[in-house]
Amino acid sequence: MIKQDSDLLLEISDLHARVEDQPILKGVNLTIRAGEIHAVMGRNGSGKSTLSKVIAGHPAYTITSGTVRFEGKDLLSMEPEERARSGVFLGFQYPVEIPGVSNLEFLRVATNSRRVEIGEEELDTFEFEDLVKERLHMVQMNPAFLDRSVNEGFSGGEKKRNEILQMALLEPTVSILDETDSGLDIDALRVVANGVKKLAKANTATVLITHYQRLLNEVTPDFVHVMDAGRILRTGNKELAIELEQTGYDWVDKASKKKVEN
Ligand code: ADP
Ligand code: MG
Repeated sequence: MIKQDSDLLLEISDLHARVEDQPILKGVNLTIRAGEIHAVMGRNGSGKSTLSKVIAGHPAYTITSGTVRFEGKDLLSMEPEERARSGVFLGFQYPVEIPGVSNLEFLRVATNSRRVEIGEEELDTFEFEDLVKERLHMVQMNPAFLDRSVNEGFSGGEKKRNEILQMALLEPTVSILDETDSGLDIDALRVVANGVKKLAKANTATVLITHYQRLLNEVTPDFVHVMDAGRILRTGNKELAIELEQTGYDWVDKASKKKVEN
């Protein structure tokens, strides 16, 4: 009998994916429940961004085996837009610039498609402006950014704030933030961290992909996973992130070798 588990939001089982002919993900297992904050750490090139892009439906990656279920549905058979509308949010490590599309209009279209999905009314331009101004405050972003093209000419920190603004508007069920902390000064890091904390609700989950422990000083994860060579090598609590900060990733090689031998 299948166990009923209404808290289960995202269930990744034995996920394998490749880019062109190169296997990148080699059996990822990860279970994410409502109310949880997960951190995924690991060296550069271990597959963290690939995992997030596969979940978002990036076309460059081919799934070769395994499953991803989101609220019980087969996520991998859904179009990327449908995944986003349904409440899976990915904050990119390198947010895309969209010249010629105003940030305000982009945010309004995205927010409205999410609202329709969850049975709320679409907002007209004026209503949306009110909402966005309120949420702007949360990320301490200058309203001038709304009139510019999406991310065009934004600094690294501004792009990351913009990602959190999107998240604040879309109110996703599962948010995956890929290196949202990288390149941020301490003030911007706090803004991002406070945004994440405010948006984390009992019925949502957050996955913070990060190379460093410093974001995790601000947002305490319930689980810390270490990825290596396309797999999750080890899972622990927040102490594991502290241990990694102190010892580096050298032990990963030994652990990884052992895992292959077994
Ligand atoms: P991380 O985010 O942990 O640094 P990535 O998922 O970005 O790791 O990359 C994992 C591996 O997959 C790296 O060796 C990287 O070069 C490769 N890779 C990822 N995406 C692509 C791509 N689109 N084309 C070619 N190689 C890729
Ligand atoms: Mg990455």
